[in-house]
Amino acid sequence: MPDTHVASYVIAPPPVPAIPVQGGKLFPVRRVFCVGRNYAEHTREMGGDPNREKPFFFMKPADALVTGGKPAHYPPQTKDLHHEMELVVAIGKAGANIAEADALNHVWGYAAGLDLTRRDLQGAAKKEGKPWDMGKGFDEGGPIGELVPASAIGHPTAGKIELAVNGKVRQSSDLSKMIWNIPETIAYLSGLVTIAPGDLIFTGTPEGVAACVVGDELVGTIEGVGEVRCRIV
Ligand code: MN
Repeated sequence: MPDTHVASYVIAPPPVPAIPVQGGKLFPVRRVFCVGRNYAEHTREMGGDPNREKPFFFMKPADALVTGGKPAHYPPQTKDLHHEMELVVAIGKAGANIAEADALNHVWGYAAGLDLTRRDLQGAAKKEGKPWDMGKGFDEGGPIGELVPASAIGHPTAGKIELAVNGKVRQSSDLSKMIWNIPETIAYLSGLVTIAPGDLIFTGTPEGVAACVVGDELVGTIEGVGEVRCRIV
C-alpha cells in the first residue's frame, strides 16, 4: 500500500463502493468474490459434472454493484445477458486459513444479489481457455439488495431462493442445495487469500438461468434474508 500520509493523490480518489444495510447505515465493499457452479442442477444445465470438485472463484469489481433498486443498463458487447440469483455473504472480520467451525464468526451479514453474466462472452472465453472476467466483471453487473446483519437473522442454511422476471418465476431452489455450504466456502477461500472486512462472496446460483432483455423487471427473494430488485434498461 502507498503511504498516503506523505504522498498526495494525483487524481481524486474514487468513492468507496458501499451497499445499504437494513436500518439505514452502509457497508463498505472491498472485494467481490463469486463461487462458480455451486448448485448441482445449475452445474448440469451449464454442461458440467456436479461432483464435489474443489470450489472455484471469480471476481467482480466492487463498483459493479447496483444498489437501492436502481436499474442496470443492458451491457455492451453481448446478445445474451443472463440472470443468476444468489445469496451474498458479507465478511466482517479478517482471516486466513479459517477453520470451517470458526468460519461463521467472520460473517457480518447476508443479502440477496444477482450475478449478471454476459453468457456469450463467458462461453467464448471458456472455449478458448481464456479468463471469464469480461463475461462477469462488467459495469452494473451486480445488483444487490439490502444487507441484513447475522446478529438479526442468524446464518441461513436452508430456505427458498427464487427469482421472478416480469412476475414469472424463472429460478426456484433452496439454499440447502448448495454443493459447498457457507463455512466450507469461507474456509476454502481463506486458504487462497486473506479475507477482510468489506469482502462479499456471491455463493452461486441455482438452476433456471436464462436471458433477460431491456425492460425486464427482476425480483429475487431469499427466505429469511431479503430481496433484490432491478430493472434492465
Ligand atoms: Mn454466479
